[in-house]
Amino acid sequence: MSGVRLEQLTKIYRDPQRGGEVTVLDRIDLTVAEGEFLVLVGPSGCGKSTLLRLIAGLDQPTQGTIWVGDRPVNGLPPKARDIAMVFQSYALYPHLTVYDNLAFGLRRSLQMKGSSLLPAPLEATLSRWTRPLPKSLQLSFARERAIHQRVLSIAQMLQIDSLLWRYPKQLSGGQKQRVALGRAMARNPQVFLMDEPLSNLDAKLRTETRSQIVQLQQQLGVTTLYVTHDQTEAMTMGDRIVVLNQGKIQQIAAPLELYERPANRFVAEFIGSPPMNFVAVTVTAAGLEVAGQPLPLTSQQQTQLAPYRNQTLWLGIRPEHVHLGSANDPTTIAVTVILVETLGHETGLTVQLAHDPLAWRVRLSGQHPIRRGDRLHLHPDPAHLHFFDLESGQRLL
Ligand code: ADP
Ligand code: MG
Repeated sequence: MSGVRLEQLTKIYRDPQRGGEVTVLDRIDLTVAEGEFLVLVGPSGCGKSTLLRLIAGLDQPTQGTIWVGDRPVNGLPPKARDIAMVFQSYALYPHLTVYDNLAFGLRRSLQMKGSSLLPAPLEATLSRWTRPLPKSLQLSFARERAIHQRVLSIAQMLQIDSLLWRYPKQLSGGQKQRVALGRAMARNPQVFLMDEPLSNLDAKLRTETRSQIVQLQQQLGVTTLYVTHDQTEAMTMGDRIVVLNQGKIQQIAAPLELYERPANRFVAEFIGSPPMNFVAVTVTAAGLEVAGQPLPLTSQQQTQLAPYRNQTLWLGIRPEHVHLGSANDPTTIAVTVILVETLGHETGLTVQLAHDPLAWRVRLSGQHPIRRGDRLHLHPDPAHLHFFDLESGQRLL
């Protein structure tokens, strides 16, 4: 097993239509530890696939170095990198059974010609011969047995062992994707690269396959870089998450740290569903002015925000950190309800702040007799306020 290290990795595409160059990846520094499950997340077009393709060797960087373990692999062809990649589309061999799809990569990585091998059952027949078998046949039996065992154990792990004799066209989408995952895993590579492998599956299968991938990765301990634009996958799968936007790393952190201390407004908005609420606030002597209404702060927060007195900042608060309060509570702000979503276990509200164009999303646990048009007083939990610079969006507090 090896880790992966990217040093100042840059990819610039020429764009003849726009008559210039597009920097898709901008001096990316990133270390994936040996055996780590690292999730790379970001909006469509931010350079995620490009990053994986560079590591796999399917494309060449404009600048920078890619290390796998302790060797730089720039310039090495994909085959020599010992990296397995799984794509969004399944890309199985249509003319091979599931068994042979799984065994294919294994045979190739053992540098054998699959066609010269005898099928396993023949071994039993031949071994009844009184004369010893020729050396070359014994060798191919041993190899085929090793392949057979590996294919079976991978198939059992992924619960596709009852499908081994089917062809890809006889499989559902979820089954195909598990075969594609199995084929990558069977090779036992140094590194797995997975590019949105679950995005073609329906919600239920996605959840199931998600936990299978996590379990398999833990069992095999192979360094994994997993790309997704789905923040639920990002939060639940990785040891750490890298948030990428416009070719630059925004933050690298453990899932909860990312959720609780986002480094900037982009990360704050991208991670979490519904996303964090924002409102421009002015820092006053007693606390904040939020959409024309005063909101007191703790004395600790007042001290921390003292350098920003009279300045305007972004206040961020997550939907679950806004609670119902009463009209005479000075720590509440008045809002008007514009949408109620009753989910049973929780109630989702979209509310409009007075004098502010931005709507907020609120998640209240349980059921509440709230209707569209109601005026409510909401209490933002002071322990969960986030502050960002109005222009740069960088986290201040
Ligand atoms: P993601 O996987 O995050 O959605 P990609 O890595 O596929 O994003 O693409 C990042 C950007 O690079 C996109 O704007 C895309 O149009 C551009 N791009 C990708 N491949 C090429 C290419 N071969 N030539 C020019 N531009 C490309
Ligand atoms: Mg992509």
